[in-house]
Amino acid sequence: MSKKTEIVQKLLKKIAPRAPLPKPLKEGTLLEQGMLVVLVRHMSQDKAESVLAKLKKAFPDWNEMRVAQTQEIAAQVQTGTRKATYEECAPWMAAMRDAREWLQEVYQKTHGFDLEFMKEDQPAASKLVTQMPFLGLSGGSFLLWLSTGKQLPVHSALVRVLDRLGLISRTASPKKARDLIEPLVPEGMDLSFTTVFGEVADRWCLQTKPTCHECPLVDDCPYGKKAFQEWKVQQARLEAQRQREAARRAVFEKKEAAKRAREEARLAKKAAAEAAKVAKEKARLAKIEAKRKEVEQRAKKRAEAAQKKAAAEAQAAARKAALAAKAKAAKDKSAKKAKPAAKKSKARPTKPAKAAAKPKTRPKKAVKRK
Ligand code: SF4
Repeated sequence: MSKKTEIVQKLLKKIAPRAPLPKPLKEGTLLEQGMLVVLVRHMSQDKAESVLAKLKKAFPDWNEMRVAQTQEIAAQVQTGTRKATYEECAPWMAAMRDAREWLQEVYQKTHGFDLEFMKEDQPAASKLVTQMPFLGLSGGSFLLWLSTGKQLPVHSALVRVLDRLGLISRTASPKKARDLIEPLVPEGMDLSFTTVFGEVADRWCLQTKPTCHECPLVDDCPYGKKAFQEWKVQQARLEAQRQREAARRAVFEKKEAAKRAREEARLAKKAAAEAAKVAKEKARLAKIEAKRKEVEQRAKKRAEAAQKKAAAEAQAAARKAALAAKAKAAKDKSAKKAKPAAKKSKARPTKPAKAAAKPKTRPKKAVKRK
């Protein structure tokens, strides 16, 4: 056993496939074999074969199943009709969704459902299996293995992984690749060899961006070790950058907090000054108002005093007038009493008396005219 074969055996033990591969159908097309690969991800081999038989019977045209609803397909498996409740279909839903997805992938890549060309055209078959992510390279290797009459399945992804592992040199020629790979494969392990390394290609050893830091084979892979080192350096650089960024952000946030605090203090001071100004203005207005009220009060008191004085004067004048009127009335009364007495004593007034009643100047005027 060569050193490389020993390494291969060691590497094969490190990878556990995510899903088992089925035993090939005794009779069946490559499309049906592919569907079996998908179904055994959800159920046992026997059950998968039974479900496949039901599907073949229910959908003689695979395109009919491709365009059917998942629940319809599950109902066919559960009840043999296209009608069933969701609860009845539930156990089959995930598997039927994957079965339909497989048909969809085949249809998209080949515009049909016939994969038998893979038996005739090995380069096209190898290319096709690398373009079916839903089936995966593990399942694709299984189909290639069947299509070549159970020979070692070789495809470009397998060549890529083995090249990176340092087990072969990369080549574009399938024949040359087969010649390089075959001596590495342990006796009777053709299929498990390609499915395991197909799994590595599917999960970690991607064509453009392999995730070597997660790959279980990194310690035994020259390419992976180098890529892992670069990844670690890059991570350290990113971590340093993250820390610098965090420090820069912390400084910035501190500055911003100080700026905010200064601004808040300034606004508080301004608000306090405004409040003091408003209070001062209020006090000034209150003082003016108090003074105005005091002046009003004084004026009111003065007006009331003047009113009282005027009322007292009016009262005094009224009293005086009343007294005068009373006195006049008394005088008039006494004068009236005196007049009848005089009439009685001098019924006819004498001439001298009349003369006496006339103005004294009249005789003098008569003298001047003479
Ligand atoms: S370590 Fe990297 S290069 Fe090597 S097999 Fe794994 S993913 Fe591929």
